[in-house]
Amino acid sequence: MLAMILRRPGSPLEPAVLPDRSPGPGEIRVRITACGVCRTDLHVVDGELDAAALPIIPGHEIVGRVDAVGDGVQHLKLGQRVGIPWLGYTCGTCPYCLMGRENLCDRPLFTGYTRDGGFATAAIADARYAFDLGEAGEDTSLAPLLCAGLIGWRSLVMAGDGKLLGLYGFGAAAHIIAQVAVAQGRRVFAFTKPGDEKGHAFARSLGVEWAGSSEEPSPVKLDAAILFAPNGKLVPLALAAVRKGGRVVCAGIHMSDIPAFGYDLLWGEREVVSVANLTRQDGRDFLALAASLKIKTRTVTYRLAGANQALADLRAGSFEGAAVLVP
Ligand SMILES: [Zn+2]
Ligand SMILES: [Zn+2]
Repeated sequence: MLAMILRRPGSPLEPAVLPDRSPGPGEIRVRITACGVCRTDLHVVDGELDAAALPIIPGHEIVGRVDAVGDGVQHLKLGQRVGIPWLGYTCGTCPYCLMGRENLCDRPLFTGYTRDGGFATAAIADARYAFDLGEAGEDTSLAPLLCAGLIGWRSLVMAGDGKLLGLYGFGAAAHIIAQVAVAQGRRVFAFTKPGDEKGHAFARSLGVEWAGSSEEPSPVKLDAAILFAPNGKLVPLALAAVRKGGRVVCAGIHMSDIPAFGYDLLWGEREVVSVANLTRQDGRDFLALAASLKIKTRTVTYRLAGANQALADLRAGSFEGAAVLVP
């Protein structure tokens, strides 16, 4: 199989031809048809996250077809279309797994971070963590649902039921979650970089009521805000935008330092929380919801060998929606 491999943080991904491995007990091998490019891949490539297993094949928004099945796998069949997300394995025995919070597992494996991911023509996955994707929808459109959509969904649930929702950063996750929130009858406000007219227009095209600069005051007091941009300076800005009792949800795996801010921004029972990873139940809930709401993702496709260009374009913010690699 062909794969794009990260050997050292800060270096470009290198193409490599690797032998196809057979799936072990409980595993499946998937012939990849699309893999989304997530901001977390950038953090991995840049060495901003601890303990990435190197060398590693990044990519954790994998869509493909099962082409080999290991011993003991009953629920997935050859040819079935599946999605492989960030959560690649959990121990099942730590306190977090036992309390139903497997997203916080003490001994997890993450696809494209601590086990090989989807910037490749094939991948091996633990069958218990793969999602059945059914046959509706294009492979490339479904790929961004597997992290941008899923983490966005967990963040939206964490944000509570408030009607007035702010989204800070309008990339892959926000463009999916804005559609869900609008379908739920919420009013959505999008905050992006100053001068990002294309981003503002894109947000409004998806039903967002107001789109503007994160440095402008919010036009309304928000019930909750979700921060998708990995910029710690947004935390006090978002706290200033939420009402008393409001909540600021930090959705990213990495963020620059949060500057000191006065206690008055937190006063009034405002909360700041983070969202980490996903549970399999999040995945089942969200994928069913996305199908029923007919969520449409905006994607820009790149060939697998163009993975470095896709990452560079993501870094530069030079496209709207999500980048997807196709072999
Ligand atoms: Zn665990
Ligand atoms: Zn991701």
